[in-house]
Amino acid sequence: MAIKVDDNKCIGCGMCASMCPNVFKINSAGKSEVISSDDKECASSAAKACPVMAISVD
Ligand code: SF4
Repeated sequence: MAIKVDDNKCIGCGMCASMCPNVFKINSAGKSEVISSDDKECASSAAKACPVMAISVD
């Protein structure tokens, strides 16, 4: 099981980080970064909400 962000797709909108601040944070490059893989349920919701489908949870 892994949570991943494709930073080629990520537009840095901040949605995932505001939905799951314990999983994602916006890094200095303005892209979302996975900081913890503990909350896959929240990550799955964020994956569905991401406007560019940059998040994968498998
Ligand atoms: S919701 Fe998607 S596009 Fe927005 S910051 Fe997160 S990964 Fe990037």
